[in-house]
Amino acid sequence: MLDKKLDELDQLLKRSRAYGHAISMIHWDMETEAPEKALERASEVLGVLSEAAFENFVNPKTKELLDYLNENFDKLDEIRQKSLVKLTKEYNKEVKIPKELISEYESLKAKAQAVWSKAKESGKFEDFAPYLEKLVDFNLKFIDLRGYEGHPYNTLLDDYEPGMTVEKLDEFFDYLREHLVPVIKVGLEKSKNINDDFLNESYDINKQKELSKFVAEYMNFDFSKGLLKESVHPFTLNFGKNDVRITTHYYENNITSAIFSTLHEGGHGLYEQNIADNITDTPLGEGSSMGIHESQSRIYENVFGRSYELWKGLYPKLQELFPRFNEVSLENFHKGINKASASFIRVEADELTYSLHVMIRYEIEKLIFNKEVDVKDLPKIWNEKIKEYLGLDVPNNSLGILQDVHWSCGLFGYFPSYALGNAYASQIEVQMRKDMDLDKALLDGDFNSINKYLTDKIHKYGSSLKPNELMEKLTGEDLNPKYFVDYLKNKYNFN
Ligand code: ZN
Repeated sequence: MLDKKLDELDQLLKRSRAYGHAISMIHWDMETEAPEKALERASEVLGVLSEAAFENFVNPKTKELLDYLNENFDKLDEIRQKSLVKLTKEYNKEVKIPKELISEYESLKAKAQAVWSKAKESGKFEDFAPYLEKLVDFNLKFIDLRGYEGHPYNTLLDDYEPGMTVEKLDEFFDYLREHLVPVIKVGLEKSKNINDDFLNESYDINKQKELSKFVAEYMNFDFSKGLLKESVHPFTLNFGKNDVRITTHYYENNITSAIFSTLHEGGHGLYEQNIADNITDTPLGEGSSMGIHESQSRIYENVFGRSYELWKGLYPKLQELFPRFNEVSLENFHKGINKASASFIRVEADELTYSLHVMIRYEIEKLIFNKEVDVKDLPKIWNEKIKEYLGLDVPNNSLGILQDVHWSCGLFGYFPSYALGNAYASQIEVQMRKDMDLDKALLDGDFNSINKYLTDKIHKYGSSLKPNELMEKLTGEDLNPKYFVDYLKNKYNFN
């Protein structure tokens, strides 16, 4: 009987994978290749497939199957047990929300994104506000239906970072606020006289493409099971571990954007490519959390990618493709790519100020889901916080509260992952330096050793270990923001 039920489960998962595969393939196409007018039909197809995927998973038969397997939990092996816990959690989450509500929410999101996109151009927050208000109301309703412990916002946080709570994040951001704000003041001052103008001259796009491909190969991104293409916003998408696709974006007057996006998405991509074979086709065959995923993208982008040691090996290739860099010393190039300056836009922020942008969004989302704020007052709150943390006066909402796409897509509780990723990355780096000669590996371009280390410690586990379990196993402690602050202090030359 148990074997028969496990077989049924495998069939169910196989169908889920097929729906997921088709849906993701359409998304990939829409973001990279599809002509503009294809989008309407593609959205319609996505709607039909999403509904079918939902019905495939959420139905009384699945419930019966999961119940039976949970009753026989002790007879299952560890991978089965962990997969079952994850699936049951997912089922309980989805079953609590009526189907009609989901489709209403989906069409609201589609409209909201279009409205946001226009509002971002015009700077008129009042155009987007009614949609934002509705999106928030939906999420408040979802929280009620799904239930919560402690703060209502916890339910949303847990979707992206399992086990994360307001209590833990308050402590995390309090530490950053206290220790980072003074560091930033001095760091920005020290960066003032660094010249990085040479990064923003005109650089041939085709040569930039060649460089990005070279960088992806240099970090051992496996092109036998991966692709590098171009999209407006860089992202990573994968179909299991053997088909991992990353994108970057090329700007003629900004040579570093594509390079660092390639390193960033390459880090996400390596994570997926290196998940262990025995879990890749199970519910555990994906990253542990958004925060851990982001730690891997950022360790390649920032810790390795902005290091002097890495560029010692890469610089000759840059000079070969762009002879302009024969006139720039490696030392000055290294300073240029690490220059910090306060900016309005999160995605353009440097390592030093980035986390403060995330902190502002966290504080605002917390207010929203504690019902302590009216949506119409958000721009004022946003601008006050930018002034307080970065000392900048926001000139308009396009450079302020309207800059990010996330809320229009219903992504609430997602932003903290970015700051967590930075902190995890620094904590992992400290451990890595204890266990191996990282500088030497970077100098030698030895990504075999680097990737092997991260595969053994992080990638191979997929989501079979939770973020705190991974960190404790690797570093002996749970998330600790001290390492990130130390990293920045060291980088921007303090004490
Ligand atoms: Zn990322």
